[in-house]
Amino acid sequence: MRYVSTRGIAPPVGLSDAIAAGLAPDGALYVPERMPHVDTPAADGSLADTATHLLAPFFEGDALADDLPAICADAFAFPAPRVALPIEGAHLLELFHGPTAAFKDFGARFLAACLSRLARRDDRHLTILVATSGDTGAAVGAAFHGLPGVRVAILYPDRRVSPRQAHQLGSFGGNVRALRIEGSFDDCQRLVKGALADVALQADVPMSSANSISLGRLLPQMAYFAHASLQADEPMHTIVPTGNLGNAVACLWARTVGLPIGEVIFACNANATLPEFFAGRPYHARDAVPTIANAMDVGAPSNFERLRHLFGSDDETRRNGQAESVDDAEIRDTIRRHAASDGTIVCPHTATALRVFERRRLAGDRRPWTLAATAHPAKFDTVVEPLIGGTVPVPEALASMLSRPASAEPMAADGRLFSSWLRAW
Ligand SMILES: *Cc1c(COP(=O)(O)O)cnc(C)c1O
Repeated sequence: MRYVSTRGIAPPVGLSDAIAAGLAPDGALYVPERMPHVDTPAADGSLADTATHLLAPFFEGDALADDLPAICADAFAFPAPRVALPIEGAHLLELFHGPTAAFKDFGARFLAACLSRLARRDDRHLTILVATSGDTGAAVGAAFHGLPGVRVAILYPDRRVSPRQAHQLGSFGGNVRALRIEGSFDDCQRLVKGALADVALQADVPMSSANSISLGRLLPQMAYFAHASLQADEPMHTIVPTGNLGNAVACLWARTVGLPIGEVIFACNANATLPEFFAGRPYHARDAVPTIANAMDVGAPSNFERLRHLFGSDDETRRNGQAESVDDAEIRDTIRRHAASDGTIVCPHTATALRVFERRRLAGDRRPWTLAATAHPAKFDTVVEPLIGGTVPVPEALASMLSRPASAEPMAADGRLFSSWLRAW
């Protein structure tokens, strides 16, 4: 399988090169040259088995193909159960059983398994840069921590992540270092992009990135939707809490290669770029507005190019997907009401999907729906606990990370400081 750029200017490359590069050299995103058809995997296989079967055509002909079963065993080391809610016809697809309690653990671990093998093969140390507003950096840090041949620099905006997120980001040590930047998330991203584009620095310190546009994060996210759809008894209608569209595009790719997935709705927060596009207006990216579902605070969804590429035109894209906006007041109301009425406790991101499901029920839709639960509510305790009037038990993996000492190095948002820090590491 070869991978082409969504803008079609950069030449096609193999999978290893696409994963190592992150972004295509023309500034666009890599997508498979054509979508393969995948025979339905066995319904009783493990998540890692399903992933190996599903991803085999995407790895065909690549240097990593023989390693695929081992890569999947590394990445899918914890379950993604589809659990019935105490609400008729609703299931949660729980994607939060990894070390940092959010779905990004799967993609980060898969990418780490791929990049560490590529680094070992080339016998060169690779430095992974990641700018984060919270969840991504923790998942990437946890995934690469202790792996040979790779090290990670996490950049996050000082005082603009939650206390638990800051603790996670600084808790790794060893080959993972955290920098708290005096500035915004955009400043962090600017430092990362500047370093990656600096040819002289690349020659001294080979670097790659781990942001959400990497194919090494997107491809594995197909696996849990595929696995869950084999347990649903009709096409699995799915609601996905959405920010950069990484998880939702993976769900649509799984449907495209032949898995029994039905309608897919993107549940967004007050950032309404996608809902407005799907309502028929032209695509209009803008600055993000802050919400209590902060991992979805995205005004310019980076995977939109992949979505449009999949369907070919704006109109076809609108025919194949739907998006709805849920504001903070509705998120709070949904969390509060379900905790009181049926004991279901969800994180603010998952609450957007639950709200969209309720709207469908009110509109007379009686079909079963599966809602992606993207993070554990304990990760957002400062939002959730006051609403439910109680504490959320912390999962064991998250608790052990929070019990480690944490420290991050302060740095001004200055590209020259950052590059000398990288050279001195
Ligand atoms: C990243 C994230 C999202 C958004 O996922 P995308 O792939 O960016 O659309 C939703 N919920 C949580 C908890 C997240 O961390």
